[in-house]
Amino acid sequence: MKPVWDEAAARRCDSALALRAYTSRLIGSDPALVLHGGGNTSLKLDGTLYVKGTGSNLAEVREEDFTALDLAALRALLADDKLPDAELMRRVDACKRVSSAPKPSIETLLHAALPRTFVEHAHADAVLAVVNVARGAEACAAAFGDCAPVVPYRHSGAALARACKSVLEREATANTIGLILAFHGVVAFGDTARDSHNNLQLLVGMAERYLQQHAVTAIPPVPRNPDLAAAEQLRIATSTIAGYPLAMTVACTRETLAFAQRPDLAAVSQQGPPTPQHAIFTKRVPLIDGDVAAYADRYRNYLERTLGAAAAGRIDAAPRIALDPRFGLCAFGVNAHYAAIAAEIYLHDIDIITRASTHGSYRAAGEQDIARAELEYGGFELRVRQQMKH
Ligand SMILES: [Zn+2]
Repeated sequence: MKPVWDEAAARRCDSALALRAYTSRLIGSDPALVLHGGGNTSLKLDGTLYVKGTGSNLAEVREEDFTALDLAALRALLADDKLPDAELMRRVDACKRVSSAPKPSIETLLHAALPRTFVEHAHADAVLAVVNVARGAEACAAAFGDCAPVVPYRHSGAALARACKSVLEREATANTIGLILAFHGVVAFGDTARDSHNNLQLLVGMAERYLQQHAVTAIPPVPRNPDLAAAEQLRIATSTIAGYPLAMTVACTRETLAFAQRPDLAAVSQQGPPTPQHAIFTKRVPLIDGDVAAYADRYRNYLERTLGAAAAGRIDAAPRIALDPRFGLCAFGVNAHYAAIAAEIYLHDIDIITRASTHGSYRAAGEQDIARAELEYGGFELRVRQQMKH
């Protein structure tokens, strides 16, 4: 069931930060808004920015998982556009009020840049299904009007924060309650916890209403016998490329079968994920023709083109998602838990791409941007494998 504001639970929160944590958990427990570590939230109070720390999930976030930072110092950093990114992020960390606090969210500067007390950032499926098309700005103008101007894709951190600030200064009206982040997600804000949370729901509602105006084609019935032997063969071939045995989850549903049988599958599935954070679980694109070796060659070339030596030893070239009309979808992971996460995320991606395709041509962020996200947000597979060895 969709988590909704509970007045009694809200009344039990004895501080603004407790309320901030409460509405963050509401957002985090709705998979249509964020998945597995995606999204972040903040509160500004008496010159301090409280932003979700990295390493905590919004669904379970508590007051102590928010990191307090010097808001004026963060805004001064943002004004200095000569600092290189790595140095900037180091200095963001130095703005912490308590040095032992968790590393603040990658979007800390975005939260600092926006003038409102409460800020929510999510990767809402419905919003992505509206904006992630070739003519996304037109779709957003029709869906959101001046309630949420569109910010073009920028890498998370200073570049995105500055882009949000300038779009807001240029385009905001009295109706503006958030921003749409092309190929990434949505931001909503407000002066109270309830208003801010409500504004996020309002933007998602506008996206849903826009999408409902476009017909979805009927989904064919599921055949009785998914070809699990074919999926297992792919798992073995994929494990060889990865260099270690991968776990597998098969999702043979009406939706995955219909998607795997789309005549335009190559065009829609090879663009990239709806938001770059998904790529750390699913890779940039799924395998769609069963040829794992050719996929690996293409993936190595993509990593070489975009990241060069930085990817070596950190990202392998094996797919994490395979689509096939014989079984729908199978997902691979470093263990069964992560294979299930990859499958869950790609089911959302299928829904987003399917809905985007009802009103336009699906698009994602550029390969350079997605590769950078794979490198900077990823790395958990290496950690999990180390832990499994011990
Ligand atoms: Zn994000």
